[in-house]
Amino acid sequence: MTITRAECVALDASDPLKHLRDEFSLPDGTIYLVGNSLGAPPKAAVAAVTRTVEEEWGGRLVGGWNASGWYDLPLTTGDRIAPLIGVGPGQVAVGESTSIAIVKAVTAALSLRPGRRVIVSDRANFPTDHYMVQGLVKALDGYEIRDIAGLGDLAGVLADDVACVLMSEVDYRTGARHDTAEVTAAVQAAGALMIWDLCHSAGAFQVDMSVADFAIGCTYKYLNAGPGSPAYIYVHPRHQAGAEHMLTGWHGHAEPFAFEPGFRPAEGIRRFTVSTPHVLSYAPLNASLDIWERVDLAELRAKSVALTSLFIELVEEFCAPYDLALLSPRDPERRGSQVSFRHPDGYPVMRALIDRGVHGDFRAPDVLRFGFAPLYIRHVDVYDAAVALAEVLREEHWRDERYRRRLAVT
Ligand SMILES: *Cc1c(COP(=O)(O)O)cnc(C)c1O
Repeated sequence: MTITRAECVALDASDPLKHLRDEFSLPDGTIYLVGNSLGAPPKAAVAAVTRTVEEEWGGRLVGGWNASGWYDLPLTTGDRIAPLIGVGPGQVAVGESTSIAIVKAVTAALSLRPGRRVIVSDRANFPTDHYMVQGLVKALDGYEIRDIAGLGDLAGVLADDVACVLMSEVDYRTGARHDTAEVTAAVQAAGALMIWDLCHSAGAFQVDMSVADFAIGCTYKYLNAGPGSPAYIYVHPRHQAGAEHMLTGWHGHAEPFAFEPGFRPAEGIRRFTVSTPHVLSYAPLNASLDIWERVDLAELRAKSVALTSLFIELVEEFCAPYDLALLSPRDPERRGSQVSFRHPDGYPVMRALIDRGVHGDFRAPDVLRFGFAPLYIRHVDVYDAAVALAEVLREEHWRDERYRRRLAVT
């Protein structure tokens, strides 16, 4: 045996981030390894939402737009996300969803590269990223998508007709992490612009977007802002004056309250806002960012690497006789905060595991995904999860018919 449960408990006792687990609500008896899909709620979210409804909305009514800072929430909240992705103030705007942020980033990039008609999208991208680009190409005249099947193909397609490249820093299925500095440099050397999707990066480790052109991401995964919380977009300062995206809503206007007939873009990052912010959704997001402000991101990464490495080691030891194959990179440097295994009966295996209190998720066709949110996952959780997975496989609990019926959301 490589490590005992008691040794895991001891590791948790000396974990510099251990006090942060207390700041989150987690149901008893649940090992929650799905923080890469929907983060757990900060306990302070409840009071934050109540305060917004009672004091700001109830107390000030429409006056809240000025007196409670609602109008500026996309920018003030963006400035709080900026340090997590390695950029400065005035470079991040919050709002809408990731899919909508992709439309903003891609059309802004196209406006900066007139004459270049190709959008490169990685086939490994999360489907919505791909779908949104497909919709854009259909709606805009004369553009095309050039698919690549992973990084290996990138150099071969970077011709002088490429306007932009859209890729995820961390692959949502495999957890593989790309070298953003190296890829960005190659794309920029070809005269194209780089757009990074950070959905599985921000809050998983220190991200550095300082040289990237654009980045987008959601806040409901590792950033714990709740279901449907707003997304964000980063735009490098060198592009802010020139880029014009297609979602020209009134909040991105230079003078929204002049009610002019024509659209004139605002200066700076404000032009990347679209419309009335979802004020109630910003309350849990800012409650979560109160916690993130106190997180040492080097400690976060060290713990993430320790948890994911431990999980791989234990699963490979406990589950050796069964049909599991590691899909994530073995080298922690090349991994996000997620571990994926393949199993031919992945769906029922995951359902049986969830029934035993260990929550991961399933991605077609055969991937078991486990996310490790370092703020609230402990070494002992990793140990217990590996034991439970081995039991489900050994006892063949997953063969039960009821685990085969697909639920709407996997
Ligand atoms: C979760 C996720 C999305 C989600 O997009 P929404 O518009 O917020 O539903 C997009 N891209 C990636 C890479 C994701 O992981």
